[in-house]
Parts: sequence; C-alpha cells; structure tokens
Amino acid sequence: MSQGSSVAVVGSGLGGLASACVAAARGHRVTVYDKNDWMGGKAAVLHEGGFRFDMGPTILTVPRVLERIFAEAGRSVHDYMDLRRLDPQWRCFFDDGSRIDLIEDVDAMAATMDRFAPGQGIGDGYKRFIAISEHLHGVSERFFFWKAVQDLFDTIDLRANMNPGTLRDVLSLRMHATVASTIRGKVKDARLAQMLDHFVQYVGSSPYGAPAVLCAIAHMQTAEGVWYPMGGTRAVAEGLMRLATELGATLKPADEVLGLDIADGQLRGLRTRDGTSAYDAVISNMDSVRTYRELVGGEVGKAYEKKNFEPACSGVVLYLGLNKRYDHLAHHDFVFSRDPEEEFDFIYRKGEPAPDPTAYLAAPSSTDPSVAPEGGEALYVLVHTPYLRPHHDWSKMFPAYRRTILEKLKRTGGMPDIEERIVVERHLTPQDIHDRYKVLNGAIYGLASHGRMMGAFKPGNRSREVRGLYLAGGAAHPGPGMPMVMMSGWIAADALDQDLRGSREPELRKSA
Ligand SMILES: Cc1cc2nc3c(=O)[nH]c(=O)nc-3n(C[C@H](O)[C@H](O)[C@H](O)COP(=O)(O)OP(=O)(O)OC[C@H]3O[C@@H](n4cnc5c(N)ncnc54)[C@H](O)[C@@H]3O)c2cc1C
Repeated sequence: MSQGSSVAVVGSGLGGLASACVAAARGHRVTVYDKNDWMGGKAAVLHEGGFRFDMGPTILTVPRVLERIFAEAGRSVHDYMDLRRLDPQWRCFFDDGSRIDLIEDVDAMAATMDRFAPGQGIGDGYKRFIAISEHLHGVSERFFFWKAVQDLFDTIDLRANMNPGTLRDVLSLRMHATVASTIRGKVKDARLAQMLDHFVQYVGSSPYGAPAVLCAIAHMQTAEGVWYPMGGTRAVAEGLMRLATELGATLKPADEVLGLDIADGQLRGLRTRDGTSAYDAVISNMDSVRTYRELVGGEVGKAYEKKNFEPACSGVVLYLGLNKRYDHLAHHDFVFSRDPEEEFDFIYRKGEPAPDPTAYLAAPSSTDPSVAPEGGEALYVLVHTPYLRPHHDWSKMFPAYRRTILEKLKRTGGMPDIEERIVVERHLTPQDIHDRYKVLNGAIYGLASHGRMMGAFKPGNRSREVRGLYLAGGAAHPGPGMPMVMMSGWIAADALDQDLRGSREPELRKSA
C-alpha cells in the first residue's frame, strides 16, 4: 500500500462517516459521497421558527463505540462533543394512567418495580432478566461485535473454536426463545413487560419475532447509560465530519453514486453524473440490499432481487414547536399503546398503522434549553408504522394518523391542551424517509431482526460477491441504531484495511 489506497464511501450516514474516519485514520485517501446536500444521513437537523429538532435519532447509547472510533486517530471524542448522561433514561406512561421511570441502577429499578406492582416478585424477575441480558451482551461481544460477520459460519470457526465454552455460549443464545417470551418468563406485570419490549424497538422489530439474543440491548443501556450530546444528536454527525476532514477525507454532498464499476468480480471504481472515478475499494453506506440491486446489478443484483429480505419498521415523526413546555415530561418518554400484541400485530404482521400506537417523545429543553425559545419545547413525537406497502399513500393517510397520535398524547400522555401549545409544526412520513435516505421500503432501521435462528444476522461487511466492496450501515452487520451503525463503519473500514494491506486475502464466494 503506497501512501494509502483510494477509498470511496457511498453515503454519509453515521455508519459511512465512521468508516471514513477509521479508513482515513489508517492512512487511506477517502472521499465520501452523499446524494443529499447535507452529510449525516438520518442524523439530520431541522431549524424552524426558533426551534431546533433532531430529525432522526435522539437516544444515544453505548458511547464506547464513538470512543473507539476517535481513538483510531489518537483523539478523544470528548474534545469533539459534550456528552451528558441522562437518568431517568425513559419516563413511561401506560394506558391505565400509571407511570414509571426507567432508571439506570438495576437494584433501585427492581425496588421501584416492586412498589409499582407489589407482591409478585417483579423486582427479582427484572434482576434475573438483566442477568440474562448481560450474559447475551457478553456473547454478542465475543461472537458478533467488531468483526465482519454474515452468518453463523463467520461467527464461529467450528474447527478452531468449538470447545465446551463456545458450545455453552451457542446454547445460551436461547434460539428457542423470542424477546417477548424471555421478558414474560421473568417479568409478570403486563405493563412492565411492555416497557421492556421497547428495547427491541431500537432495531425496528417485533419482540414477538425477534430472537432472544436481542435482549442484550437492555444490558447495553443499563450498564453504559443513555447519553445526550449537547447541541443534539446532530452533534455526533458533526463531530465525525470534523474528524474525517481533519484526517484529510473529502466530503462530497449532493453527489449521488449511480453505479459501481466492477470487472471480473473486482471493484474498480464508481459512477456519478460526472463520469467514472477509479478507487481501490468502496464502502457502501447505502442500504445493503439496494446496494446489490442498484449499484452492483448484473447476476448478483438479480439474486438479491429474489432474496426475501424483510425491511424493519418505518415511522411517522411530528416536530412540534410548543410555546409552553410540559413539566411532567422527562427528556425521553414513552406513551404506551393499550395492547402491545395488537400494536405489534398491526405494524409487523398486518402491515397497517396501529389504531392505538405507542408514541416515543423527546422533550430535550430541560437538558438543552437552546432547542426552543425560553419556556418552550421542541417536542419530537415518533410513532412506529409498518414499512411501505404498495397501497400506502401517506399523503392521504397522514392527516388522520396525525389526529390518532395527538389524541393518544392527550389521553395517555397527560397533554390535553397540546394543540393550543403548538406554534410550529413539521412532519416526516414513511414515504419521506424512503425518499430522503434511499432506504428499503421506508425502513428506519434497515432490515428486520425476525427469526429465532437467523434474526440476528444481516448482510456481511465484506462482500462475498465483489472483491473490494464493503458494507456499513443499518442494513449491514451488526445492524441499526447509532452505536451499531458506527460499529458497522469501523468493521467495514477495518476489513478493508486488512485486505488492502494484504494481511488477509478475501475469498470470493459464488453464493448471492
Ligand atoms: C425517525 C428516526 C428515529 C430514530 N431514532 C433513533 C434513536 O433514538 N437512537 C438510535 O440509536 N437510532 C435511531 N434511529 C436509527 C438511526 O438513525 C440509524 O440506524 C442510523 O442513523 C442510520 O445510519 P446509516 O449509517 O445506516 O445511514 P443513513 O442515515 O441511512 O444514511 C445513508 C446515507 O446514504 C445516502 N445514500 C444512499 N444511497 C446513496 C447513493 N447511491 N449515493 C450517494 N448517497 C447515497 C443517503 O442519502 C443517506 O444520507 C432513528 C432513525 C430515524 C429515521
């Protein structure tokens, strides 16, 4: 490798930016393309009438991933962003009028749960659930995280690793169980089980379909906290952009990649409206399935057309500038549906918006007063919906669903006068998400994690079909959400770096 190899990154989501930072820190010459005129993908910001809204992600967990990316360049993430730890992590409002705060300390949370639903051993059940979650988190760290994985065979080198310890770990993945059954086996109160179900909403999947290993998310949050970067989660994208440019990367907004230049299974470069540019390697942060279908094309693209990848859920977001804040809200709040089975059945099986949905709220003004004029609130309301189906026309569906959401906030969220407080209003529908971020069927979180055996696996970070192509982002391993997409960016850049330095000869497999 002389003076670093030339590397292009297609897409500047957090996964793409993280991969650009790591590749540049390892000495490669990096160019990042994004079709949008801003960088950061879903971590976008909206300024409107004196209010500032994070448009996409709002809950930041596992800051260790950010620390590792900045450490690649010998920097500290804390010099680039001011991260504040939030506790309570969530405030939860249930349909029966009861409320509980999810707090970080497990023993204190268990005691709170016993007061909330006395005489059922719930606190003890919660501690046992967190112990399972901690174990699954440990197994995930050993087998899934920080390495390029596509399937069980990548995860476990059977000859090298199949010892009693590995066997124990594999069996403990609880492949017979789902997230919902694992939770309900330990926590008998329906409301508290509903609260714990929502960790898996971080990956846009049904707790009734997601494999038990995803219970690990609960321990990631209780152990490592919920964080708010001052200035909003947009500060994460801006910190990564600053690091990438300091390391010499070139950022090219408003420059869509139209195809990849591939000859004999080897990547040669990419095509934009200005023609073809040669690169030694490409990291695609575009949705992985669409990368194969639209950028790679040919036989590989056709094979991906036939694969039945299920998109994760989509969502509707309301950005409400309020002239008066609600003092009963915490920074992060959940206003829960009347019936989780009904809700998840609508979103994930029927493919229609839930009639009585759960609304997630971010009310950041108490942590960061700069989000709103004094005394006001930049209220962010997210409701998960199914991914786009052919008959969904959100230009027609939105007005009625907006009303459903506002009625839910009035009824269950203690905000009867919300409409009188709104002075600024914008929204995002599944169709907007689809068009802005070029995702699969409007999916917010890449591919659904459904299936007890294979639900945790996504297309791998090192392409098996094209030498020199790597994948990063929510639809690639290890999956969606800010920490996971940034880890995915690290993995893609690390795999690329190993291959270009010749420390590993990538093998091309026929399977598509
Ligand atoms: C409303 C909402 C709420 C969320 N809440 C949370 C949360 O609270 N916590 C959390 O951790 N996560 C949350 N997420 C998920 C999180 O935002 C995503 O998992 C993550 O930001 C996605 O990053 P990514 O790297 O996959 O790229 P993306 O953000 O999907 O960006 C991909 C980029 O690639 C560009 N692109 C695509 N194709 C091309 C092409 N051919 N040429 C050039 N550019 C191209 C797109 O324009 C886009 O900018 C939320 C997401 C949304 C939308």
